[in-house]
Amino acid sequence: MTLNLASKKDWIAAAAEPLVREFETPLYVYSRERIESAYEAYAAAFAPAPHRICYALKANSSLALLKVLASKGAGADIVSGGELRQALRAGFRPEDIVFSGVGKTDEELALGLERGIGEFNVESESELRRLSALAASRGARAFVTLRVNPDVDPKSHPYISTGLRENKFGVPIEEAARILREARAMPGLEVSGVQCHIGSQLRDLGPATEAVKAIASLSRMLLGEGFALRTIDIGGGLGVDYDGTGAPAPTDLAALVLPQIKDLGLKLLLEPGRSLIAAAGALLTRVVAMKTNGARRFVITDAGMNDLLRPSLYSAYHHIENLSRGEETPLIQADIVGPVCESGDFFAKDRAIREPREGDLLVILDAGAYSFSMASNYNFRPRAAEVLLLGAVPRLIRRRETFEDLTGAEIE
Ligand SMILES: *Cc1c(COP(=O)(O)O)cnc(C)c1O
Repeated sequence: MTLNLASKKDWIAAAAEPLVREFETPLYVYSRERIESAYEAYAAAFAPAPHRICYALKANSSLALLKVLASKGAGADIVSGGELRQALRAGFRPEDIVFSGVGKTDEELALGLERGIGEFNVESESELRRLSALAASRGARAFVTLRVNPDVDPKSHPYISTGLRENKFGVPIEEAARILREARAMPGLEVSGVQCHIGSQLRDLGPATEAVKAIASLSRMLLGEGFALRTIDIGGGLGVDYDGTGAPAPTDLAALVLPQIKDLGLKLLLEPGRSLIAAAGALLTRVVAMKTNGARRFVITDAGMNDLLRPSLYSAYHHIENLSRGEETPLIQADIVGPVCESGDFFAKDRAIREPREGDLLVILDAGAYSFSMASNYNFRPRAAEVLLLGAVPRLIRRRETFEDLTGAEIE
């Protein structure tokens, strides 16, 4: 199922010029409808089973977007104390929050206990012991899901693969039962279930199915041993169709997962990030300069790798269109690059694009996930503004940073 890549821009093309006239570039634009419909697709796909969709905040943790998801009934998957506080601020209920992460500090665990979050996705025996001590000393109970590493290759980019034995995440699945038997005896802990998350941008669901099969069978065994499990958490990772070659839908995932867990009687937890938010966002950027070096043409934009790191970090593909030119303009092959002083600062290499002139407006699509949330101030560049479209009505949800924002924490 190949999507027409050009149609990716349809939701934003008409709104773009007026938006950048008002808010300038680079500019992140999101659509509330597109976030809501992505959430609804998940909710409908998994409706046959008791479940909670816990949005992974790290994909994009901007408050206004979180409020959209919280108001739809989503839970939250967090990986730091900061994300915990942001999730609560956005209105997610503490009991609908799961706390993941391989290096939670005592401070972060304590914050989770104090706020009464739903589950701790524990990733090591050390964390279990620390969580037990912290919970016991507060007279609190921590619900624990053990993150297991099922040793499957998600066939994604190595930097976003997490379920192989050599990765730092989780505990080897063969050790999970022993660790949970020990956990059951530790004060302050309630063993709630097992979790896995094998990686991100999964486009082949074979490995995910294998992983779910493995944790379902582990859960079955634990239930047989008398563990009072409540949940089974299959993580996130569903891929997005960045390049028009197709990606699985929540219904595809549900069709593979639901039959495996049906008999367990557990509540299914999902932790999607990218697949809820990526296609709901775009990055608008103006062409600062055109140049040719030898045989290579360059389109230089006012957005850079500090605004959108994914192409530099993972060689990720984002579809890009020139919104200022129509079909009468010839396509050229060019590198589309930012102004940052790094050769790795590019959005696309040798890409076909309607020949831009300086000042043209480009849109970088599917930039809702792992884009703003990975933005930095590298090269002393303020982070871009963010706008949320409510239908046709734009709302500024984060102002552009100023020079003073960048210098404010410095001590002379
Ligand atoms: C990053 C992450 C997710 C979300 O992954 P996506 O690919 O954005 O769906 C879910 N769970 C955990 C533990 C993660 O680290």
